[in-house]
Amino acid sequence: MKQILVLASTNKGKTREIRDLLKDFPLEIKNLNDFGPIPPVIEDGATFDENAYKKASFTARVLGHPAMADDSGLCVEALGGAPGVISARYAGENATDADNVARLLTELEHHENRNASFKCVISIAVPTGAALTYEGRCDGIITREPAGENGFGYDPLFFFPAYNRTFAQLTMAEKSQVSHRGKALNQVADEMNKILEWIDINMPRFEQVACKGG
Ligand code: IMP
Repeated sequence: MKQILVLASTNKGKTREIRDLLKDFPLEIKNLNDFGPIPPVIEDGATFDENAYKKASFTARVLGHPAMADDSGLCVEALGGAPGVISARYAGENATDADNVARLLTELEHHENRNASFKCVISIAVPTGAALTYEGRCDGIITREPAGENGFGYDPLFFFPAYNRTFAQLTMAEKSQVSHRGKALNQVADEMNKILEWIDINMPRFEQVACKGG
């Protein structure tokens, strides 16, 4: 029988990518669109680990199935690791990608050190709260102006030296081979047989109790 694994996301693209990556395993991958509405998770953790764990464990507890969540962002050396967990809202609560890119360029205007890394943490949790964690990291350099049309977020500013291009100048396939998310996801795929065993051992079991008096 296939093991259900719920992605703590409603994103169709992410779901398709993960289904494809894990297609050879006895898994039925669902996402939040396959269930009724559940309360939102407040992503207020201080680290990527904390946020990924919050999303995965909450989803597993509420839905009663093992769940997988990721959290990622950009960490810039000269800015003490910022924007980090607030990457999506660096320029404000409703900031667009363009707003965040503009703020990053302003913050780095007088810095020579442009080293940065994208980081991604994936958490896989069962309803009791036990969880496994996988991490991926990709190092690059922040450019002085955006270049490239592909991708999203900070991709136009993230120069990847090995390819001599920014992430926004790579195809999706090229990016996912070297990106923080790609690396973390590949670790999950490499370890999936062990993860399935771990899920089996850690899923709570419900015993049938005989009902007295009818
Ligand atoms: P999430 O946790 O995957 O939703 O990522 C949070 C934020 O980090 C995004 O809104 C982007 O601003 C930034 N980010 C994460 N991964 C990438 C990436 O691969 N390229 C560009 N920006 C990213």
